[in-house]
Amino acid sequence: MSQLNLILLGPPGSGKGTQGKGLQEDHRLPYYATGDILRAAVEEQTEVGKKAKEYMERGDLVPDDVIIGVIAERLQKEEASDGFILDGFPRTLPQAEALEAKMGELHRELTAAILIEVPEEEIVRRLGGRRTCEENPSHIYHLDFDPPAKDGVCDLDGGKLVVRDDDKPEVIKNRLAQYHEKTEPLTDYFEDKGILQRVEGAHPPDEVEERIHSVLATLRREDEEGM
Ligand SMILES: [Zn+2]
Repeated sequence: MSQLNLILLGPPGSGKGTQGKGLQEDHRLPYYATGDILRAAVEEQTEVGKKAKEYMERGDLVPDDVIIGVIAERLQKEEASDGFILDGFPRTLPQAEALEAKMGELHRELTAAILIEVPEEEIVRRLGGRRTCEENPSHIYHLDFDPPAKDGVCDLDGGKLVVRDDDKPEVIKNRLAQYHEKTEPLTDYFEDKGILQRVEGAHPPDEVEERIHSVLATLRREDEEGM
C-alpha cells in the first residue's frame, strides 16, 4: 500500500489511546496523540512549537492552524512515510476541513477515519467505576476491572478512594453530550467521503483490536487490487 493515514475517533472511555498504541506496535506506524506531539514540538523548539509555546504561556488555547502545523511537521518526517495514526484531532468539522487542506498540500490523503463506537451505558460503567486515591491521584482503580484488595482503600498507601468529579455520572453524561454535538457532523463528513470505518468498541480491548485489524487488512487488500 501506498500509505495508511488514519484518524481515530471515539467518545471518552472508548479505549482509543490503548488501540492507538496497539496499532503503532503492530503496523509500525507512528501514533500521534495531539497533546503529546504538541508538547514534544514545544520541547524540541520546532518552528511551530515556538508559536504554540506563546499561546500556552499566555494560558490561551492553541489555535487550530498551529496544531495543524505541528501535525504537518510530523507528517514530513521519515517516520510517517508509510502512514500515521492521529488521535485527538480533528474534533470539529472546520478542523477536519483544515486538516484535509493541509494534507492536500503535502500530497497525502486520509485512508480511513476509524470510529470506535461504545454505547453510553457502557461508557458510564467504564468511567463511573473508576476510583482515585485521595493521597496520590496517579493511583487509579476500577470497581470491575482493577479493584483494590480492600473496598475504598488504596493498596499502595492506604489512602481513601474517591470518585473524581470528572467520573461522576452527570459529568460523564455532559462530556458525552458535548462529544456527540461536535463529533457527529465530523462522522457524517467522513462518511460522505467514504472513509468512515465503524468498529464496535463494547468488547474487551484485544477483540476491538482484532476488529480494527480486519478493517485495515481489507483496506490494504483493496489498495493492492487497485480499487
Ligand atoms: Zn494511593
